[in-house]
Amino acid sequence: MNTIKIETTKNKENGWERFNFKSFQFGETPTDHFFLAEFKNGSWTNPRIEPFHSLNISPFALCFHYGQTVFEGMKAFRQDDGKVHIFRPKKHHKRFNRSLERMCMPEIEEELFLNALEKLIQLEQHWIPKEEGVSLYIRPFVIATEPRLGVKIADEYTFFITCTPIGLYYPKPVRVKVETDYVRAAEGGAGYAKCGGNYGAAFFAAKKANEQGFDQVIWTDAKTHEFIEESGTMNLMLFMDNKLVTPKLSSSILDGVTRSSILQIAKDLGISVEERPVSWRELKKQLESGSRVELFGVGTAAVISPISCVQIQEVDYFPYIENDAVMYRLKKELDNLRRGRTSDTYHWNHFI
Ligand SMILES: *Cc1c(COP(=O)(O)O)cnc(C)c1O
Repeated sequence: MNTIKIETTKNKENGWERFNFKSFQFGETPTDHFFLAEFKNGSWTNPRIEPFHSLNISPFALCFHYGQTVFEGMKAFRQDDGKVHIFRPKKHHKRFNRSLERMCMPEIEEELFLNALEKLIQLEQHWIPKEEGVSLYIRPFVIATEPRLGVKIADEYTFFITCTPIGLYYPKPVRVKVETDYVRAAEGGAGYAKCGGNYGAAFFAAKKANEQGFDQVIWTDAKTHEFIEESGTMNLMLFMDNKLVTPKLSSSILDGVTRSSILQIAKDLGISVEERPVSWRELKKQLESGSRVELFGVGTAAVISPISCVQIQEVDYFPYIENDAVMYRLKKELDNLRRGRTSDTYHWNHFI
């Protein structure tokens, strides 16, 4: 329920009326409105929704120089019965605050986060057509806006929520390599936070891998390079020996909402689940044994990303990606829950 007053200025245009939902590129078209609020003198002020527009920010704004930027990525869906919901916003909110805390940025109370989301998605629900496949990608983020060139923790910030339509991602199998030179995150670092710098710092290894014919890398731990952590910007899972195995969370692994949802769905299907350290040697041994191994990434945007080829120490291996793979069944279960076709036992669908 809306308890915080959020001033709304309506856009005179309805972009969704002329948007081609059948064919579009993800991330190009903002919806008609966005949310913003400013942090000043120790509190979040002036929460409001405005027609989407560009910003007027000082080149001295601290976010441009010292990287205090944090974001989230979540989705809103329309069910078969027409109702619209946001998927697990409370879990995303908790992670948002953990990221903000790690970056010395002010946290956002749950009430403000949920009220802002509900009001914005209510306004933008026409951007989620009835047809299966199109959902709304939601990008909340906070940046340091205090204009000051000296190195310091900023005293002023802006919190935004923007949205853009997202289409069906056909899970296209990807080629990856186990990365043992470059590092995404180290124990004690900011790997568990969804901060902009983690992405900027990861591009280089991904670019090098692209040049060698790979789509992405599988990151290994910074200390020993023995244990696999994540694949690009997705959490990593394996299905082998009739078990779903995923690296245990640590300060260098992001606590993915998709990871958590898939693990729960698997448990509910009676699949045994293991969260533990996984070395690339173990993965290599499994793949060499000739037994069936599924390897895949999980994340909000693509849900699952099957890995068809993994290079370990210069040798290519081919995980199982045929239609009867367990990963597709897990994805289907999650899709059904979001469409309202199966019961939402854990109240993950937050209706607006
Ligand atoms: C966002 C992200 C994920 C996936 O998290 P979801 O909540 O499932 O979208 C995984 N790893 C990294 C590094 C990420 O930034």
